[in-house]
Amino acid sequence: MIEVSHLKFSYSSTIPLVLNNINLQIKNGETISIMGANGSGKTTLSRCLNGLLWPTEGTVYVDGLNTKNTEENLKIRALVGMVFQNPDNQIVSTTVEREIAFGLENLGVPTPQMQQRVDEILRQFDLEKYRRQSPHYLSGGEKQLLALAAIFAMAPRYIIFDEPTSLLDPYSREKILDAIFGLQLEEGITPILITQFPEETLRTQRLIILDSGKIVLDGKPTEVFENAEYLDRIGIAVPPLFRLRPYLTKMNLWGAF
Ligand code: ADP
Repeated sequence: MIEVSHLKFSYSSTIPLVLNNINLQIKNGETISIMGANGSGKTTLSRCLNGLLWPTEGTVYVDGLNTKNTEENLKIRALVGMVFQNPDNQIVSTTVEREIAFGLENLGVPTPQMQQRVDEILRQFDLEKYRRQSPHYLSGGEKQLLALAAIFAMAPRYIIFDEPTSLLDPYSREKILDAIFGLQLEEGITPILITQFPEETLRTQRLIILDSGKIVLDGKPTEVFENAEYLDRIGIAVPPLFRLRPYLTKMNLWGAF
C-alpha cells in the first residue's frame, strides 16, 4: 500500500506550496487514474510517490517504507517504476534487448538470470523481432511499449504512468492501455495513470482530481464525472456523454448507457 499523509511540497522556501495537504491511500491491485490541469501538481505528486522528491511536510510510505529514509528510498525507487510521456527521454540503450537489460544490471541481477529475464520480457511484450535493433527505428507506440517493458522487467509493484499516451496515435494508445491494464490483471501490478484523456480513466476503478496542489475529487470515474460543470471550471476534460447527462436523465435515457 502507498500511504500519503498530510503531504506538503514546495520546490523552494520562497515559492508557494505545489502540493498542499495531500492525504491518499493506494491499495495493492487498485487501478488509479489522476487528472488535473497543467501545473496542478500531478508530476510533482508522482515524484513524491516514488521517492524522487521528499515531502517538505508530511510523509509518504510505500509498503511500509518511508521515502525520506535514505536506505529505504533506494528500495522504493525499485518498487515504484515510472513511465513518462516521451519514451525518447527514457530510452538510453543502443538495442532493444540492452534497454531491457539496463535496469536489471543496475539492480545487480546476475548475468544468467538477467538473460533469462530479458528473453521472457521480449516474448511477453512481443518485441523479440526487434531484439538487436536500435530503439530509434521503432514507432512511437513500440518505443513506449519498450519503455514499459524495461520498467516492468525490474519487477516493480507499482508503475506510475505520466501521460504515457499523449504523443501516440489512437491505435497505439489502445495498445499501450491494453498492456498497462493487462499487467494489472495478470501480474498484480498497481498502475497509477496520469492522463489528460478522460475516457482512459474509465478503465480504472478510481479517479483522483488535483487542483492547485489539492485533491478535490476522489471516487469512481463515473461518479467523479457527474461534476461536469465543476470540472469544466477547473479545466478538466469530461467525456462528452457526461455533458449530456442532465438531458438524458430528463428523457429517462441515462440508464440506457
Ligand atoms: P502538472 O504535472 O500537473 O503539470 P507539475 O507537478 O509539473 O504539475 O507542476 C506543479 C507546479 O510546480 C507548477 O507551478 C510548476 O511550474 C512548478 N514546478 C514544477 N517543477 C518545478 C521545479 N523543478 N522547480 C520549480 N517549480 C517547479
